[in-house]
Amino acid sequence: MNGFVFSQKPIEIESGSGPYLTSTDGTEYLDMGASYAVASVGHSHPDVVAAVQQQAEELLFVQGSYPVAVRQALREKLAAIAPGDLEDVWLANSGTEANEAALKFARHATGRSKIVAANRAFHGRTMGSLAATWKGKYKQGFEPLAGDFVHVPYDDPEALAAAVDEETAAVILEPIQGEGGIRPASTEYLQTAREVTAETGAALVFDEIQTGLGRTGTMWAHETAGVVPDALTVAKGLGSGLPVSATVVADWIADDPGNHGSTFSGSPIVAAAAGATLDVIEAESLVENAASVGGYLQSRLAALDEPRDVRGEGLLVGIEVKRGANRHLKHLALDHQILALPAGRTVVRLLPPLVVDESHADETVDALAEVLA
Ligand SMILES: *Cc1c(COP(=O)(O)O)cnc(C)c1O
Repeated sequence: MNGFVFSQKPIEIESGSGPYLTSTDGTEYLDMGASYAVASVGHSHPDVVAAVQQQAEELLFVQGSYPVAVRQALREKLAAIAPGDLEDVWLANSGTEANEAALKFARHATGRSKIVAANRAFHGRTMGSLAATWKGKYKQGFEPLAGDFVHVPYDDPEALAAAVDEETAAVILEPIQGEGGIRPASTEYLQTAREVTAETGAALVFDEIQTGLGRTGTMWAHETAGVVPDALTVAKGLGSGLPVSATVVADWIADDPGNHGSTFSGSPIVAAAAGATLDVIEAESLVENAASVGGYLQSRLAALDEPRDVRGEGLLVGIEVKRGANRHLKHLALDHQILALPAGRTVVRLLPPLVVDESHADETVDALAEVLA
């Protein structure tokens, strides 16, 4: 699927530290994909490991209806960094579930069913989120999907405005499309999305599962457009690898606690990992680092001859390449010990841990220059 398979030379990973992964044969790899943006604060960050160890000794799990300090603290931290008046935090176990919750809440609060999503969107693979996802490959064999989803061209304000009406429960958008090829939306597009949803009473959902928590050089990718959504979904880097996601919503679409839930959601152990991860992002100024190292990385990439197009924000970067991305990724891994990801067939995607510095950027660009030549 999205990952690339090492058919000739499997790399078996044994350990990780900072932006590096080490294989069983002792080779060190620079992980410029952060294992799908999960290792945002670096692999096995000592603070996160310590928080998990301590929590494991105290309490692995207790049902969600009992207040637990570590879970409560995570909710408060997420509410504090969420934009505007988004303060109601629902925890879940994966990105797709965070989107399911947002869509359920929007339907319930509006009493409507139509959801507008964008071409090339990726929102997950459970039945509801899958219906919002665009690519046929993910949906084939699973029809009929959840109903009443409409797709419109991405970053086309007029097409979006035409599709949103009084029957629309929600518009769900990635401020920068990730799986769809690293495609940033214009400010005008996000502002139009805000205007047309406000006018029609629909909820605006921003899926920041890949773009959130500092990756783009701001806490949230949509921030620069100066709009506040009604719901925000967060996952990938939140728990440094433990399964945790969040749907942060405005009061008007917040549901009653009895209407949605999941046994494992926000368990003490994942809450400890996520709380520690958020603390590291703040303590190590990783949002600022993503902005400065990301800017440096992108300016160096733009100066290369070979790529046709370099897109992204901060440390979420797509490089349009010829002849298929996987071929280049394999060379990067095997010849240069740099792990990156594809984003569609012709895009090499870099989304490294937010702890990388300019030397890691240099190493990656120099290797790419050779590989792409
Ligand atoms: C990865 C991703 C998802 C799905 O998250 P899972 O944890 O794999 O379910 C949803 N939306 C976006 C933008 C993503 O990048």
